[in-house]
Amino acid sequence: MSFVVMITGIPGVGKSTITRMALKKTKARFRLVNFGDLMFEEAVKSGLVRHRDEMRRLNPEVQKELQLKVARKIVEIAEREPVLLDTHATIRTPAGYLLGFPREVIEVINPNFIVIIEASPSEILGRRLRDLKRDRDVETEEQIQRHQDLNRAAAVSYAMHSHALIKIIENHEDKGLKEAVHELVEILNLAVGEYA
Ligand code: AMP
Ligand code: MG
Repeated sequence: MSFVVMITGIPGVGKSTITRMALKKTKARFRLVNFGDLMFEEAVKSGLVRHRDEMRRLNPEVQKELQLKVARKIVEIAEREPVLLDTHATIRTPAGYLLGFPREVIEVINPNFIVIIEASPSEILGRRLRDLKRDRDVETEEQIQRHQDLNRAAAVSYAMHSHALIKIIENHEDKGLKEAVHELVEILNLAVGEYA
């Protein structure tokens, strides 16, 4: 038995902020797992990268092997406690978009919910320009829109290979954040009592 909520959204959408705030408010006790962190740990161990933004430039086959390793670790955690998995539905690589959860990987994780955090391309662009810590790709609003469209499509394919329901949460400037956090908390609260 396990309870996994996958939380996705393109870089700059406000995913980490919403997640942190929702975790403080939920009655359920989730373990926050960042897919990128676990993948980076594996990639460093294998001597493949030194910085996390190098991972998306690795050979796609190598990235897939890393994904499967990470997925098995996540399942082990999820057998003991509910997991909130911070990750990406698709990853923009130099060779094209890479699925964050190919079939073998989504089947292993078998999430209960796939949450997609979205915002308007102009809001995302603005947030990216303000975040100087990361080596972000420079994208136009059209490219951002296309990536969000693709992520919805990817989520549908993941739902085909798991028990997941899809939930889209909008995160807009001004009062949008509070509402977005509330929506995520409602989903997380569904895990209360699951491991009793
Ligand atoms: P983040 O810190 O969430 O932007 O993630 C850092 C990096 O981890 C991403 O740029 C990807 O290279 C990698 N990553 C995160 N989730 C996945 C996934 N599901 N599949 C493949 N790579 C991932
Ligand atoms: Mg993040």
